Amino acid sequence: MKKYIVALDQGTTSSRAVVVDASGAVVAAHGIEFPQIYPKPGWVEHDPQQILSSQVEALRQAVKKAGIAPEEIAAIGITNQRETTILWDRKTGKPVCNAIVWQCRRTAEEIERLKAEGAEPMIREKTGLVPDAYFCATKIQWILRNVPGARVAAQAGELLFGTVDAWLIWNLTREHVHVTDVSNASRTMLFNIHTLAWDDELLERMEIPRAILPEVVDSSGVIGTLDKEILGAEIPIAGIAGDQQAALFGQACFDRGMVKTTYGTGGFLLMQTGEEAVASQNGLLTTVAWRMGGRTEYALEGSVFVAGAVVQWLRDEMKLIGSAAESEAVALSVPDTAGVYLVPAFTGLGAPYWDMYGRGTLVGLTRGAGRAHIVRAALEAIAFQTADVMEAMARDSATPLSQMRADGGASANEFLMQFQADILGVPVVRPAVTETTALGAALLAGLAVGFWESREQVRAIWRAEKVFQPKFVEDERAARLKQWHRAVLRAMRWAE
Ligand code: ADP
Repeated sequence: MKKYIVALDQGTTSSRAVVVDASGAVVAAHGIEFPQIYPKPGWVEHDPQQILSSQVEALRQAVKKAGIAPEEIAAIGITNQRETTILWDRKTGKPVCNAIVWQCRRTAEEIERLKAEGAEPMIREKTGLVPDAYFCATKIQWILRNVPGARVAAQAGELLFGTVDAWLIWNLTREHVHVTDVSNASRTMLFNIHTLAWDDELLERMEIPRAILPEVVDSSGVIGTLDKEILGAEIPIAGIAGDQQAALFGQACFDRGMVKTTYGTGGFLLMQTGEEAVASQNGLLTTVAWRMGGRTEYALEGSVFVAGAVVQWLRDEMKLIGSAAESEAVALSVPDTAGVYLVPAFTGLGAPYWDMYGRGTLVGLTRGAGRAHIVRAALEAIAFQTADVMEAMARDSATPLSQMRADGGASANEFLMQFQADILGVPVVRPAVTETTALGAALLAGLAVGFWESREQVRAIWRAEKVFQPKFVEDERAARLKQWHRAVLRAMRWAE
């Protein structure tokens, strides 16, 4: 009777719903884009009602496409764009203003102030995060300070805060449950990842009343029932995780040291570190991966600011390729980059360099260098940057890398995947189901309701589609990395 799990994947640009069967295969999926709102330079907002309505519509369409009855759905899992902040009225359900999206920089100055006041070590120690405007804390503070009446209402217990998971769940559940899971809570910069509780010192410092915060629950467990109005059936909502953590779970990275990289516009790397919250010496973030069955597992997180975006740049600004996919054939049309290195530090350099003044650089040009060499160098740069973050993770966790699991749009590029394996010196594995984020949410929900019995069973569901074996001998790998690091040095501190 219960043959499917549905994952709701609420992303930054679209809301998706994915129907998964017991073998982990995607039966049907439907995505709906919604508007991005840019009120001022550097500001990014979403309309919470559009997030909700697009997500509900995606759910209905996916179920329709799958041709299944709602009664056949065993559970729903939710995964979401992280850190995006919403405050709404407990009684009316009306948001007090638009959602402030994770990318929004409006609170950058507040972060500078926190750092100037010396709060960084305390914040890092408690939350695992490097203070940044990405996270919810300063966004909530901004709303309470700037939306008329918000602070008074919050103090009177009339307002609720949530990341997108909490907003969706409050609206989708019959009971109007106000919860978030540990993985989402760990991105608020208000949550102590060691004690797994909201932190009074941080709340006080940010002037945020505790009454607005959701209850923090496990990532896998029944937390409420889908309102019958939505699909015509009552279905348990049983899994929640932030998008990157869900992808880590969907890649079945269940053991300490396992790593996944999502190659999207940016690159997102997460390493599972088991029950230990590893503090980074290299500017990586420590975050909760998930909590289930009384066990909390952690991850180290690092990102590459410009990954697939460099391919978009080749296409849109440089007009060197007609489509992202064409980059592969162009790169393979030459045997190497002829000594050309491209450092796409368009917005500075992230881990392990942390140089906001770095800028894009093209070095090693000779008279014979051409379009194909530059395209190839751009793809290689995605792999080099990923290798740099990976190296930092391996050092922080004192765990040598054994393989890397890849997903995201640019993981379709075979040249990139092969070069990544070559430069890491370990196999890169691409899974059969590339919707790893949705799959992760589905797995968390399915495990909670007994649709799947155990993680071991789920481990067997994950299957590799292709394994890219490293081909470089160690000397060659070291020589290439050395050249890359020389190129990075030339890109550093350029804008200073
Ligand atoms: P996001 O979720 O960040 O929008 P996606 O996972 O959809 O990203 O991936 C899109 C990114 O991947 C784009 O930046 C695009 O340039 C890049 N991309 C897509 N296909 C390829 C390809 N075959 N080779 C290289 N890059 C690609």
